[in-house]
Amino acid sequence: MTPLVEAIGLTKHFPVGGGGLFGRGAVALRAVDGVSFAILPGETLGLVGESGCGKSTLGRLLIRLIEPSGGTVLLDGSEITGLRGKALRDKRRAMQIVFQDPFGALNPRMSVEDIVMEPLQIHGARADAPTRARVREMLDLVGLPARAGTLFPHEFSGGQRQRIGIARALVLRPRLVVCDEPVSALDVSVQAQIVNLLQDLQGELGLTYLFIAHDLTVVKHISDRVVVMYLGKIVEIADKRTIYAAPLHPYTQALIAAVPVGNPRGRAQARARRQRIAGDIPSALNPPPGCRFHTRCPHVMDICRTREPVLGSPAPGHAVACHLVDAKQQENQQP
Ligand code: SF4
Repeated sequence: MTPLVEAIGLTKHFPVGGGGLFGRGAVALRAVDGVSFAILPGETLGLVGESGCGKSTLGRLLIRLIEPSGGTVLLDGSEITGLRGKALRDKRRAMQIVFQDPFGALNPRMSVEDIVMEPLQIHGARADAPTRARVREMLDLVGLPARAGTLFPHEFSGGQRQRIGIARALVLRPRLVVCDEPVSALDVSVQAQIVNLLQDLQGELGLTYLFIAHDLTVVKHISDRVVVMYLGKIVEIADKRTIYAAPLHPYTQALIAAVPVGNPRGRAQARARRQRIAGDIPSALNPPPGCRFHTRCPHVMDICRTREPVLGSPAPGHAVACHLVDAKQQENQQP
């Protein structure tokens, strides 16, 4: 199946210091560093990792909200990385984003109807009766009452505001939606409602999601496949069942171990595994050489400190960047 969207060697380095774009004295913050993956039509790809690993930057790069420093993005097999002006706007219709902070993302001075109508107007629609009818239909689809259009963002709860954000993202009928931590700012009691809404809308409108989150329980619920990022790099990709039941990368194993578990035995095992993954994520200004995870990895070997592991494929549909996994695979292949 042809991917809906594909990233090839996608890179984003932000200049820091030096007074100018990579001027004298500036250093590069390597937020995303040569990342490749694809999303199939209709699937939900979960993207997980600690804060600062580059996942939000990657989501924005994918839909051209920010410019990459290198690499390519394909939509339906056509490159969109170099597009400008109208050509880019046309493609943008197909790619929208739901932000983490629903309040910050909504203009407090605009009515909900105007907020949801704005993307249509940007793409040439008039504020006429058919356009307003389309906005009302969208508000209804996300579960907001008919009178919501006349109100302002501050008159809604957090969950309702996120419904407005979703309506705004979907009113152009996009095909790809980047959901950037869409429930992280919400009460736990509301999170499930928004996740269920996103799933219902996916079925109804045939959407494809990149679902970015640090909460692995939410990602497990909604995703078909999962990408794990560490310090600007992808370290593991697999279908949801494999990632949660048999993760191979030590970092993925640590993330899964940190997921709260119900039974006491599971809790004890998770605690034991968590202790082995102490330490903070290093700075993306100066990532460790070799495997970027080597400063925290309980299985670190000499080779890990000097040679960067590449994404290998220990099984169909499963990719891992780890020397230990490579070594075990070679062992298994020996006669
Ligand atoms: Fe750990 Fe080495 Fe694998 Fe990196 S490459 S995750 S340091 S074993």
